[in-house]
Amino acid sequence: MTHDAERNALVDALSRSGRVTRESVLEAIRTVSRHEFVPEEYRDRAYEDRPLPIGHDQTVSAPHMVAIICDHLALSPGDRVLEIGTGCGYHAAVTAELVGAGNVYSIEFQSELADAARERLARLGYGGVHVRAGDGHEGWPEHAPYDAAYLTCAAASLPDSVVEQVRPGGRVVAPVGTDVQELVVVEKGEDGSLDRRTDGRVRFVPMRGE
Ligand code: SAH
Repeated sequence: MTHDAERNALVDALSRSGRVTRESVLEAIRTVSRHEFVPEEYRDRAYEDRPLPIGHDQTVSAPHMVAIICDHLALSPGDRVLEIGTGCGYHAAVTAELVGAGNVYSIEFQSELADAARERLARLGYGGVHVRAGDGHEGWPEHAPYDAAYLTCAAASLPDSVVEQVRPGGRVVAPVGTDVQELVVVEKGEDGSLDRRTDGRVRFVPMRGE
C-alpha cells in the first residue's frame, strides 16, 4: 500500500472506532503525512496506530491519541493554541490543520528536538507554527491568552501557568499522573471556574524539568 492508502485506512478505522467525534479532526489526520515526521527506519510503520520512537528517548503519540486530544479541545479555525511537548512536530501539524499554522505555539524541553521540529514543520508547509525550546511548566505567557492548551507529556499535576494562560471558556487537555496517568479534560468557565473530568488511562512520556 502507498502511504496515502495506509493513511486513509487508518482514518477509516479511527472513524469506525467512534472515539473521534469531529469530522474536522479526522480530516486533519487524513491530511498530515505522519511518515514525514518519524525517523527513516520507522516510516513503514507510520500508519500503524501506535506510538513510535523519535530519538532522545521520546515518542510521537499514537494517531488515535492525537485525534482524541484534538477532539476534546473543540478547536475552530483561528483559535490560538498552546502545545507543551513539540517532539517531532506531528501533533502540532495536525493542530495547525485545524486552527491555522500561525496560531499554534509549541514548547519543547529538548532543544535538539525543538530545532529539528521547527525545520521539519517549515519544510512540510507548517512554517507558521511557533516553536521554542523551554520548560512548558511556565507556559508561554507572551502569547496568552490561548483558546486551548494541551500537553503531550505527562505532568505530575496540571501546570498552573498553563491553565492560567487559557482564556475563560477555553479548554486544557493533559495526561496527568506518575505511575498511573489519566487524560484530564478541563473546561474553564466564563467566571474562571474549572470543570475537570477524565477520559481514561493513558501512557505518555513524563514531563521533565520544573
Ligand atoms: N506532540 C509530540 C509528542 C512528543 S513526546 C509529537 O507529535 O511528536 C512528548 C515531548 O514532550 C517530548 O519531546 C519531550 O521532550 C517533551 N517534554 C517533556 N517535558 C517537557 C517540558 N517540561 N516542557 C516542554 N516539553 C517537554
